[in-house]
Amino acid sequence: MYLDGKVTILFVMTQVVLKRNERIDHIQFDGGTLCLDFVNTVHDRKKKPVPDYLHHIIDLVAWAGKIGLVDKKSETLLNRSIPGNLKKSDQFFTYALSLRELLYDMFFTISQGNATRNADLEKFNAYIADHFSFINLKAKQGEYRAGWNLPNDSLQRITAPVVKDAYELLLGNRLDRVKECSNCGWLFLDTTKNGKRRWCSMKSCGSNIKALEWYYRQKETKQVSHAS
Ligand SMILES: [Zn+2]
Repeated sequence: MYLDGKVTILFVMTQVVLKRNERIDHIQFDGGTLCLDFVNTVHDRKKKPVPDYLHHIIDLVAWAGKIGLVDKKSETLLNRSIPGNLKKSDQFFTYALSLRELLYDMFFTISQGNATRNADLEKFNAYIADHFSFINLKAKQGEYRAGWNLPNDSLQRITAPVVKDAYELLLGNRLDRVKECSNCGWLFLDTTKNGKRRWCSMKSCGSNIKALEWYYRQKETKQVSHAS
């Protein structure tokens, strides 16, 4: 009986772990840079509560696979290690989501033309300390590349490049190009020539807003012609 109970619990736990959010397969990468794509792993920032694409560590691993942070082999390895390390994996998931929300707060503030709060920067410095000791430089044909001295089954393989990307964005000269989509609240780096991008994507939010603007313009025109 005891053994049966143990087996059943394990089975249920495995079922919970392996049921990942299939919407990850359709998520768009419109952030223009990795750290903002991570911030955009929610459906709509303007909705309360915010509908999240990441419900469990397995969703985070799936996202990392889709965006190319881990290859298929590492993704399988990470997924296999989760059921045996549920508590640790859950803790890491909470840690990663805190990073995501911290990055959102920091880059949203920047998108509004303000400087990040010192308290947020301090929190971000802790993430830098957690990851940058694993940076591993390699030279290939005269070019230097930064890799990570982390085992293939380390979940930090997902957060390390995100932290590095955010660090580079903060230190670069493109902060005035960090913007908020007026429709869904996603953050993005405007890489257009004229720097006049208003939406995360023309396909989704841009066309919705344009259709609405057109509708209201038509309505106004009709009202004016009725009045005259
Ligand atoms: Zn949008």
